[in-house]
Amino acid sequence: MPIFTPGRRWQPPFYPFKREPLGRRLLARLERAVKGPLFGCRMCGNCLLQETAFICPMECPKGLRNGPCGGSMAEHCYVDETRPCIWYKIYDRSFKLGREEKLLEVLPPLDWDKVGTETWGDVYRQVKTLGFKTVAAGLTAREPAKRAQTWDSIFTPIRQPNWWEGDAKYHAPAYTKPLSELERRLRSGAFTVTAEIAPPLSTATDKLIRNIQMLQPYVAAVNFTDNASAMPRMSSLACSVIAVQQGVEPVMQIAARDRTRMGLQSEVIGASALGIRNALCLSGDHSRMGAAPYGRSDVNDLDSVQMLWILRRMRDEGKFLDQRSMKNPPKLFLGAAASPFASEPQFQAIREHKKINAGAQFFQTNCVYDADGLEIWLNELAKRNVLDKVFILVGIAPIKSLKMAQHMNEHVPGITIPTPIMKRLEAAGDGAAEEGVTIALELIEAVKQKQGVHGIHLMAVNWEEIVPRIVTEAGLAPEPAVV
Ligand code: SF4
Repeated sequence: MPIFTPGRRWQPPFYPFKREPLGRRLLARLERAVKGPLFGCRMCGNCLLQETAFICPMECPKGLRNGPCGGSMAEHCYVDETRPCIWYKIYDRSFKLGREEKLLEVLPPLDWDKVGTETWGDVYRQVKTLGFKTVAAGLTAREPAKRAQTWDSIFTPIRQPNWWEGDAKYHAPAYTKPLSELERRLRSGAFTVTAEIAPPLSTATDKLIRNIQMLQPYVAAVNFTDNASAMPRMSSLACSVIAVQQGVEPVMQIAARDRTRMGLQSEVIGASALGIRNALCLSGDHSRMGAAPYGRSDVNDLDSVQMLWILRRMRDEGKFLDQRSMKNPPKLFLGAAASPFASEPQFQAIREHKKINAGAQFFQTNCVYDADGLEIWLNELAKRNVLDKVFILVGIAPIKSLKMAQHMNEHVPGITIPTPIMKRLEAAGDGAAEEGVTIALELIEAVKQKQGVHGIHLMAVNWEEIVPRIVTEAGLAPEPAVV
């Protein structure tokens, strides 16, 4: 069930930042009239149709340019049920056309100076540079590979400005010593536990500090969500600093939803200076999951892949996005969210592969309630040879009541609770919370055996006091985290 049904709205094209000469404006109108019906083009001016099976992704309400969100599904977009998930369509067509490897190309943040402007002039100039005869011969060649190569040669310089060296390759971290305790534990091969604490809804920090101290002996690091469900709370940065003060290592979550490229870079420099060593990049729940009055839209300047790419380059190459060099760059162990049960496992595996290439060193998955289903996703990652490049912490969320399970099943994107578990909770009646703990322990035992799993991420939101019991009963030796 979708969480929001706004009714289908007309999606306006993007308009240029500055007034263009008449000739270019007319060309832009012509381009829009042709490319709109053909590809769903929204005139972003940063054409990436080659990588997206010739479907424009700019219809995605989250403005994602590098693949689907964790709520993607075949039926419809999770934000707006009146439209399809455009990224599901792109992945589906890419597989049908055998172009799925194109989806690995990391695509840059929009160059807003080009938004709303025509791109055909650029195409013409590029064809002229390559030579009209050469291009014509390439496009009419018998070999499909040659035709594809010619198309790429026409479009590549347009979508990749000089400063952008985004690519489809894996880049190993450019350091050897672990940056954080979490990284040290994962590298040591120890089965690692992290847990999530919901930031307070007020400026009061007493409960937050109590929870941090309670979890300290049981986890390697504590995550602080970043306005989860699009509801404002104390910032993840502030909670992370409080954790550092308490001697507990934080994982600072950063949602692309609320960040411009400037805000992101500035925030991680500050976070690193304040002693934060782990960051988890995610696209974030759309603001429509929150409460009215809704804002005009989310920021939509970056997506999680672009964030990872920017932060990896800052850390490993000492460069801002605009190519300026920096001394003492932020030192962050970089993580990302993974969603084993959204859309098709092979689609998700490509999406995770891309995040790894961009800079993700660890994944914390969405809540898992089906260990066999998890294995299908892990097998897809194994086929892509990426299991040795990332640490995977499986998301385990103990269920406190049947009502909570029903809510998650129906309203939380990317989560599926199998019928047998729902029946067990129903049969347990007033003992549903105890049954929820038993289910969590069974799941931990089952996922521990799976290839590529390095630990668990406990998400006992507003039930943090259950974490010590689960860690102890699961036989996961408590070892205090040290900052
Ligand atoms: S489900 Fe997610 S990825 Fe797909 S169109 Fe909606 S917001 Fe975008």
